[in-house]
Amino acid sequence: MEQLFQRHVRELKELGRITEDHVKIAESADKAAEELYYQEMDAYLKREVNIKNHIKIFKKHGLMGIQVPKKYGGAGGDAYSLALVFERIGQVGMGPLTFLDVQNCLTESTLMRWANEKQKEKYLVPLAKGDKTMSFCLTEPEFGSDPSSLQANFVEEKNGFRINGEKYLITNGSVADSFIVFTRNKSKGISAIIVDRDEHVKLETEINQKMGLFTSDTTFLKFEDAFVPKENLLGEFGKGLSVAYTGLLSGRLGIASGCVGAIEDCLNSAVSRARERIQFGKLIGKHQLVQHRIAVIEENLESARLSVDRAAYWKQKHDRNPDDQELRKEADHNITMAKVIASNAASKAADNAVQLFGGFGYSILAPPGRHYIDVRASRIYEGSNDVLELKLVSDLLGKDFEAYR
Ligand SMILES: Cc1cc2nc3c(=O)[nH]c(=O)nc-3n(C[C@H](O)[C@H](O)[C@H](O)COP(=O)(O)OP(=O)(O)OC[C@H]3O[C@@H](n4cnc5c(N)ncnc54)[C@H](O)[C@@H]3O)c2cc1C
Repeated sequence: MEQLFQRHVRELKELGRITEDHVKIAESADKAAEELYYQEMDAYLKREVNIKNHIKIFKKHGLMGIQVPKKYGGAGGDAYSLALVFERIGQVGMGPLTFLDVQNCLTESTLMRWANEKQKEKYLVPLAKGDKTMSFCLTEPEFGSDPSSLQANFVEEKNGFRINGEKYLITNGSVADSFIVFTRNKSKGISAIIVDRDEHVKLETEINQKMGLFTSDTTFLKFEDAFVPKENLLGEFGKGLSVAYTGLLSGRLGIASGCVGAIEDCLNSAVSRARERIQFGKLIGKHQLVQHRIAVIEENLESARLSVDRAAYWKQKHDRNPDDQELRKEADHNITMAKVIASNAASKAADNAVQLFGGFGYSILAPPGRHYIDVRASRIYEGSNDVLELKLVSDLLGKDFEAYR
């Protein structure tokens, strides 16, 4: 059977949804995934953060700034480029995918929309070229789903801002050269401020007791009297949550696309195993219940992929007209839907693949075991699915019915 990812790229091309440029970047993702696969598995088995290899390989294949325009050092792609690259890397694992998501979506997409030219030159260009990394610091120990209550604060001084606060579960926080910090001030409200790494940014701890995503860097950071010049304000005072939302919109499409890749890998693994393993004197693939599991995984793949293709379509339209509020709403609804559908589907697919593998499946040596643990996070981060579902319903019923605030 043609490799699932290649088939998807070919179909999109035949449907006229993507161009030769998309095919090229998909090929780069394919090479990066091949190169990363064994290094990533090795690091996973040792439960080691693998971020240095992620950076090296993604930089080598031009995937550190997928959507960033070429004039800022990026690949000049669009939402489809992002979705395709993330799908292929999701096959390798959600660890490298999470790294890529923070680099391309949470930080670069945010800078593309809100940074001024000077900030783009200083921060976006080195990110897109793969020379630097940046973290997105929204979550705090006491506030995750409700960022409007965040407590990190800044005071205005003569030449800049002084920031204090704690940020929790921050991806890439050990290595990031700079941070987008969401922080409040009594009179100015929640604002986004770029902070460069210095001794006032303290790595409280690396969160390495996670249940999975071992190769991804997750940290607890403290900002203690961190001073930055006024020019580091990103967007306007009081618009911090809108700034954050730009990153999350892009990030949710990224996570959903990665989940499609994880399901593909589960399907490939399940098919191979069904053709090799013999029980009761015949290949397990000849037992009907085993066949049923494969059918369910393929159904999971189909629903996830269709929702992601649709979300990418709306995201592309929104990106071309970022000030059109109707397009933004459509993109938001479809991306949220894709994130929920794809992450739920990935959890089900991985569960079925683990079951199909039997006892060997219940280990991180087999790909389904790794996906089973790692895709679990995709139902929590960048907006828990429970809250996102309430948001989807409020889109249908109207703002008066908003049940999550
Ligand atoms: C591996 C990993 C990496 C991460 N990386 C980053 C990062 O780089 N930057 C960053 O800022 N954050 C990051 N996060 C944090 C992540 O975005 C939050 O964990 C997530 O938003 C949920 O917040 P919380 O953990 O505080 O859960 P809580 O908000 O405490 O929610 C707990 C439970 O209550 C439910 N709940 C809460 N409110 C409602 C409601 N109104 N209605 C119904 N149910 C509700 C939630 O669905 C959840 O099940 C990361 C998390 C993980 C696991």
